[in-house]
Amino acid sequence: MSGASRAIALASRNAGKLAELRALAGGRLDLVAMPSDPAPPEVEEDGDTYEANALAKARAIARHVKGPALADDSGLEVDALGGRPGVRSARYGGEGLDDAGRCRRLLDEIGDRADRGARFVCVLALVDGEREVLARGVLEGEIARAPRGASGFGYDPVFVAAGLGGRTFAEASAEEKNRISHRARAMAALLERLAAAPR
Ligand code: IMP
Repeated sequence: MSGASRAIALASRNAGKLAELRALAGGRLDLVAMPSDPAPPEVEEDGDTYEANALAKARAIARHVKGPALADDSGLEVDALGGRPGVRSARYGGEGLDDAGRCRRLLDEIGDRADRGARFVCVLALVDGEREVLARGVLEGEIARAPRGASGFGYDPVFVAAGLGGRTFAEASAEEKNRISHRARAMAALLERLAAAPR
């Protein structure tokens, strides 16, 4: 991969994710949306690890675009739940729940336990021909007693990130979150790997 010169298709339909990862790459990767015509393949995220899911998505989209592709997989690991929901975070509580419902379900399951340690994990996979580069980012924090804040998505209202003065991710601005998030750390690790072993 030579600097920002080759377009890398992001294996996601989420325009917000593309914007966030582009901002985090700071111009060092030329990330573009994956083409919608012909329709990209659906990839089941049924691996046992973030790495397996991210690689499966990146490989499928790299084949589809016949060029480099980047994919991510992420989740929330809660100590009191033995690391759940983890790699199954998107489907925690079953198909019928929305983000707010999953947050409520998580708070119900933890109850008033004192042990509230948790972490967000993100794995990025870059696939370019034979070359496959994986990078992981982790952000420690704890689970709030009740949801707080209105920004962000997913488990943001119940995750009190270390370094945010007791606020949840949903009480922080996007800029504050992007400075410390698991995705930011994974992107920094990926850029470091690519710089250390350029093509
Ligand atoms: P995916 O990696 O996009 O499939 O996300 C996995 C799950 O983790 C989804 O339920 C997201 O809501 C959740 N998740 C991942 N990153 C974050 C985050 O930064 N904030 C809140 N929830 C997140």
